[in-house]
Amino acid sequence: MVHGGAGALDNVSDDKTAVRYLESIRNTLEHGREILRLGGSALQAVEACASLLEDDPVFNAGCGSVLNEDGKVEMDAAIMDGRDLSAGAVAGVSNIANPVQLARLVMSESEHVLLIAEGAMRFADHCGMQHVPEHYFYTPDRVEQLKQARLRHKVMLDHDDTEADSEDQKYGTIGAIARDPQGNLAAATSTGGVVNKRMGRVGDSPIVGAGVYADNETCAVSATGYGEDFMRTVISKTISDFMFMQGLPAVEATAAGIEYLTRKVGGRGGVIVIDKDGSCASGFTTKKMIHGWIEHGGETVVRF
Ligand code: ASP
Repeated sequence: MVHGGAGALDNVSDDKTAVRYLESIRNTLEHGREILRLGGSALQAVEACASLLEDDPVFNAGCGSVLNEDGKVEMDAAIMDGRDLSAGAVAGVSNIANPVQLARLVMSESEHVLLIAEGAMRFADHCGMQHVPEHYFYTPDRVEQLKQARLRHKVMLDHDDTEADSEDQKYGTIGAIARDPQGNLAAATSTGGVVNKRMGRVGDSPIVGAGVYADNETCAVSATGYGEDFMRTVISKTISDFMFMQGLPAVEATAAGIEYLTRKVGGRGGVIVIDKDGSCASGFTTKKMIHGWIEHGGETVVRF
């Protein structure tokens, strides 16, 4: 399963851009299918799929990341392996084309789970990861979006559903989750965060249990939406706990998680979930969430 962010997008069927998002989601899913078909692991599949989405400027991750209050890009990403709960994450990084790959290196090449800002960049250098220049990230859309957010003195989701945005709402943050034929689960989430965020703000995406979670005994989860809501409800781990404690399958556990998110904090956003048996589910409290799935090797489905 992959997602490209939750939020609002009216008149989806009339929106050429929307079709463009759906195509990107579909191609990414097909890429993931091929990796698994060739014997790749769930972990390899989610890293590759998340990287592809980071490379697509329409999404709020990697090269399409939104801008913070200083007009700068600060990205967060995480990856988790359900086999042994190993995880790697980075927060507040810039000049890196694929933060999810840096997160994977934190997982495999360091004894830590989360590295931030300068320290994460130093680690990227240590691993020989190439820097990309600032202009790699700046699209005219992102500059305009920041201008609008500043005018409204607002911090916004990439695809916030305010009236003023309804013409050009964009989907955002990306996530990929997978189960391989061996039954291993993995999850990855990557984001530029929310538009006009304070410098140094870290969202849910790199926080294990909030924006990302994978445990072979329960499920793989990736979240998108207002990170503050997801951190306070530890939403990804909460969904996993519904499975672990109550034995709920994907659809029921996801519904229970969304109910909890709504009831406790009025949370705005959504999740994609694959359970240990390979069943897929999604849930969101926003108008829409762009996402797609291939369940048990079946057909590719993409949805808003
Ligand atoms: N969850 C992300 C964050 O709060 C934003 C998003 O999903 O669009 O940083």
